Amino acid sequence: MYTIRSYEKVKTLEEAYELNQKKTSTIIGGGLWLRLGNRAIGTAIDLSELGLDQIEETEDAFIIGCMTSLRTIECHEGLNRYFHGMMGEVMKGIVGTQFRNTATIGGSLYQRFGFSDPLTAFLALDTTVELYHAGEIPMARFVTMDYDRDILVRIRVKKNGGQAAYQSFRNTKTDFPVLTTAVSRADGRWQIAVGARPGRAALVEGTEALAAEPSEEEIRAFAAKASETLVFGSNMRAGKAYRKVLAEVLIERAVRDVLHTAISSER
Ligand SMILES: Cc1cc2nc3c(=O)[nH]c(=O)nc-3n(C[C@H](O)[C@H](O)[C@H](O)COP(=O)(O)OP(=O)(O)OC[C@H]3O[C@@H](n4cnc5c(N)ncnc54)[C@H](O)[C@@H]3O)c2cc1C
Repeated sequence: MYTIRSYEKVKTLEEAYELNQKKTSTIIGGGLWLRLGNRAIGTAIDLSELGLDQIEETEDAFIIGCMTSLRTIECHEGLNRYFHGMMGEVMKGIVGTQFRNTATIGGSLYQRFGFSDPLTAFLALDTTVELYHAGEIPMARFVTMDYDRDILVRIRVKKNGGQAAYQSFRNTKTDFPVLTTAVSRADGRWQIAVGARPGRAALVEGTEALAAEPSEEEIRAFAAKASETLVFGSNMRAGKAYRKVLAEVLIERAVRDVLHTAISSER
């Protein structure tokens, strides 16, 4: 359990950023991860009055505020229409509905958990992260950055006209995933992210070698090569060798899902 000395419901992001520069300060998202620790928090910074719990759909992007719950993303009509139900698939394995009603996307992405389902998914999409101090940066860069005292304000997912799919594997329902895989294809170019390796999600390199319309043989060969180039590790959920085999299978499945999505959306 954590303790809080002072609780500040901020009126501006500037105020939140200033308060957060002190080492003992902490931004509070849904508080679900924080509550597992034993921190003595000097100032708890509550962003809930800044209107950041919304998803805005514009002509060319979805803009998701950091206080948006995972459940709101899971059920968002526009996101699921555009990405063919992908967001429902990404979120559905995370504990339970009540949990996802409280967990925020800001808390989920800022922590850059290795096991994170949303981190893997947004990494494979055309996503940028808006940080209060550092500004807008590509998700691919954000995922490799060290923690600092910045604030994740919003993410922007570009409508790039592509298709996307998500695959994950859990030993038991509601447990942390053993492996996560997200795949997208836009303008014939593939983007493939693999997470829970168990390290942070990473992009597969060399995806330009995968044809825009690959044959079954090409999909299998590509997935086998991709799993060779990624770095896997072992933890209590699975060993390194098992994850490597699993990655091959999940990449194959997600690539096929993207191809099927493209066919069904043409009809
Ligand atoms: C039991 C359990 C099981 C889980 N299983 C899964 C799973 O299977 N898959 C999965 O993907 N995730 C899983 N998670 C993670 C979960 O989905 C959330 O990511 C996690 O709870 C953090 O979200 P939160 O809103 O609760 O953040 P909080 O606990 O409030 O905050 C987490 C951290 O992020 C910081 N933070 C919060 N918001 C911001 C912001 N806007 N800017 C900067 N820093 C910020 C906080 O200061 C804190 O350090 C699990 C968590 C728990 C507790």
